[in-house]
Amino acid sequence: MKPTERRKQLLEWLEKEGTLSLAEMVTRFGVTKMTIHRDLGLLERRQALKRIHGGAARLENGAQRGDNHKQIASAQGNCLICYRPPTQQLLYTITKNNGEQQVACCPHCGISAQLMMGDQIAMALTTDFLSGRLHAAQHSFFVLGSVVVPCCKPSILTFSEAEVSERFQKGFGGTLGRFEDAIEFLRKDMSIHDSEGCPHCSGHAAPLGTI
Ligand SMILES: [Zn+2]
Ligand SMILES: [Zn+2]
Repeated sequence: MKPTERRKQLLEWLEKEGTLSLAEMVTRFGVTKMTIHRDLGLLERRQALKRIHGGAARLENGAQRGDNHKQIASAQGNCLICYRPPTQQLLYTITKNNGEQQVACCPHCGISAQLMMGDQIAMALTTDFLSGRLHAAQHSFFVLGSVVVPCCKPSILTFSEAEVSERFQKGFGGTLGRFEDAIEFLRKDMSIHDSEGCPHCSGHAAPLGTI
């Protein structure tokens, strides 16, 4: 069987069966695991399927085949704190201990989520404000309360390199800090405000009650 035929067959099975394990695919096609891994990698890049632990799964919601970047982005949903749609440049993603993934619109809401959910969070990634690169929030360099407020207030921006965060802070103010400092920064800020709703989103989004 030609590789192209094999991949077509693989997608047909997935369509019918929902998921396929690596072992099953190896047996059915009589090829090595290596070959299946390559096929899955290629098909995943084309967004024809989703790789799961030990196999592959069909894409749901009509996101099969072709370029559906937008659909996939919106399938991630809106910010778990303030419900606005996240932008790529500020995205903060959270993976919970149960494997569930959630997104926040910016590091501000990401850190708010950390404050709220604490030890339910297994992993968090944040975006470098200048390069757009995702990196671990725990290792990120934070600029807290600068005058650059692209999303929620007070502004929290993240950088993957210390030097860049220092230059940014010189130019745009605020204070430098690490992950723990960002948590502390928001904790203090929250205690200043009354506990009526989310104090940070006021002045940006309309309060939920008025929509
Ligand atoms: Zn938000
Ligand atoms: Zn935000």
